[in-house]
Amino acid sequence: MPEKKITKAIVCPMCGEMSKADVYTSINPSVTKGVRRRALDGELFAWKCPSCGYSARLTYPILYNDMKNRFMVYFIPKIDHFQLCDNELEEKYSNLRNISKRIVPSFNSFKEKIFIFESGLDDMSVELTKLAISQTVSKKLGGAEIHDGYLSMYDRERNTMGFTYFTGEKHTPYVQTARLEIYVKSKKIVDSLAYKDKKLKGFLKIDREWAENILYRYKRMKHIEKLNKLKE
Ligand SMILES: [Zn+2]
Repeated sequence: MPEKKITKAIVCPMCGEMSKADVYTSINPSVTKGVRRRALDGELFAWKCPSCGYSARLTYPILYNDMKNRFMVYFIPKIDHFQLCDNELEEKYSNLRNISKRIVPSFNSFKEKIFIFESGLDDMSVELTKLAISQTVSKKLGGAEIHDGYLSMYDRERNTMGFTYFTGEKHTPYVQTARLEIYVKSKKIVDSLAYKDKKLKGFLKIDREWAENILYRYKRMKHIEKLNKLKE
């Protein structure tokens, strides 16, 4: 699928003038040259009022469709659903299997998903790894609250991945690296507990909440195993 553009009417929040802007609703990095960079650095969402020069970032749903790396990320600002089935899209791509389809509610998670899939990683396992490491970070910082975190580094040769967390009252960034063994362990857990999610149709929201649920189920399973052993 090539790119898709629509014309949007925008009322300037500064001067109240109405103008029109062409915005992408769907982009494909292998079709449109430079669109990946423009999406990642935010240029694609930048808007400037033609009458007063006020600039802002536009937020609207946009589908990032990378067929070469077999993933689609649907950025829908503030979306709250876990699953989104778009019949039109499903039909269009029914012949293409094993494509990871995700919905994300924020620009940061949009960029993160692209980074994860381009790196050839499994985002479910990354999410679980991120959650496990966030607990370590919180302990290190004396129980500080971890608001959110993103995969910010992946170095296969050095066997390392790194996450940037936003911590404490001031949302101070904190970078924590980890060895890939934690990711490999997370992947084993995901493969045994999330195989149903992997078969679900449509676009899924794979985030911290999702990982918390998997981790909870994993701990419960371990607990039951322990009890059963005691019974023997
Ligand atoms: Zn204006």
